[in-house]
Amino acid sequence: MNIDELRSKLLVEQKNGYQSLTAQQREEMEGYAKRYAAFMDACKTEREATAWATEQAIAHGFKPAVPGMEVKPGDKIYLNNRGKSFLFAVIGTEPLSQGANICAAHVDSPRMDLKPNPLYEDAEIAFFKTHYYGGIKKYQWTCVPLAIHGVVCRKDGSTVTVTIGEDESDPILVVSDLLIHLSADQMQKTAAQVIAGEQLNVILGTEPVTGEGADLVKLNVMRLLNEKYGIIEEDFRSAELTVVPAGRCREVGLDRSLLGAYGHDDRVCAYAEIEPLLTLPTPKHTAVCILADKEEIGSVGISGMQSQAFEYFMGILCDGQGVKLSHCFQNSFCLSADVSNAFDPNFPETCDRRNNSQLNYGISICKYTGSRGKGGASDASAEAMYHVRKVLDDAGVRWQIATLGKVDQGGGGTVAAYMANRNIVTVDAGVPVLCMHAPMELVSKYDCYMTMLACRAIYLA
Ligand code: MN
Ligand code: MN
Repeated sequence: MNIDELRSKLLVEQKNGYQSLTAQQREEMEGYAKRYAAFMDACKTEREATAWATEQAIAHGFKPAVPGMEVKPGDKIYLNNRGKSFLFAVIGTEPLSQGANICAAHVDSPRMDLKPNPLYEDAEIAFFKTHYYGGIKKYQWTCVPLAIHGVVCRKDGSTVTVTIGEDESDPILVVSDLLIHLSADQMQKTAAQVIAGEQLNVILGTEPVTGEGADLVKLNVMRLLNEKYGIIEEDFRSAELTVVPAGRCREVGLDRSLLGAYGHDDRVCAYAEIEPLLTLPTPKHTAVCILADKEEIGSVGISGMQSQAFEYFMGILCDGQGVKLSHCFQNSFCLSADVSNAFDPNFPETCDRRNNSQLNYGISICKYTGSRGKGGASDASAEAMYHVRKVLDDAGVRWQIATLGKVDQGGGGTVAAYMANRNIVTVDAGVPVLCMHAPMELVSKYDCYMTMLACRAIYLA
């Protein structure tokens, strides 16, 4: 055996996915990228993603989960969890006692939420006070176009949806930063302190109402909001309004190989889960898609992955077949679909290149996340990793191995640990991202496409 034969027999060879992309795959990939971009433009919050998925599920014949319902192979069932998270399933030919194949992603992203008492005026400028949500580099959120999304529950009991800053004719909003000319002191601060949390105040206006008295600019802003949305200041106390980057998902790079948008983490995996399930043929094992909320702050709360809402949904499915939920979980598998960090040659010192995901090498499989000695990780077993390896290889899906950064450099977590806590075999996997948690994140079309194919293969395993 010569050395080339020996090498190809014994050693791993990874190649850029474009080297083996067929013309037909490229066409499918471009079509998928367009549909994904449209989803991103429609959904910037967990509420919007949940509403979008609900509409799509209904249009594709899914029926709401109802306690006591009969559950038969081929049935398509969904649960909208209070407008904030979404679960849907296609029932398999095997009974649920044989387990389900689950893909779990999250649809919340880092952003700035309005405080409960947000509106104020200072130096005749009106502002909203915010509290950031999730991990952000606060300085990245100044001087960029921002929009407001959310809902307000009004005094009269009605709820109004608010979106400002996305339509071309809308105004945008901005958080200011200090001019460089006067930044001698600021430039000496660490990046964590350059912009403080209490400086993330969103500029709303500068024109006073005509007349005498205090807060004339604030009053004018409230007048405008009242005219458009019928709200009064007190209504902010029963509202969920959030400030996100304004603008659409765009192709990035002269070759258009990347997509740039706010919130690829983790709607890029969410969409990869949604699309194949909507049209999935009846699988062997029940296929379940989870769109979770609150991942960015620890998967807490009634709409986070630690919530019993998942047991409620799966319980309805199991009851419908006379199956014990614990038996279903014992035999289930979960792909915890969340993004990884793509290798960035501008910051090579932060990663172990041999164990880092790279753009255009396909979906990243992550044996463990966590930090400082795998703390907080759901460390997948050899057998669980083999299961994913086999399913993806058999389906011709390109995949790579990922760990999140150098040992002791930092780390991260996903919903994986909470699925594994339920006695469900779980493996992390997802799309590699550049500039994760920045107002604009980048992903490659190729990796998005492979992740969708991977979710489909897991559902059908
Ligand atoms: Mn994530
Ligand atoms: Mn994240």
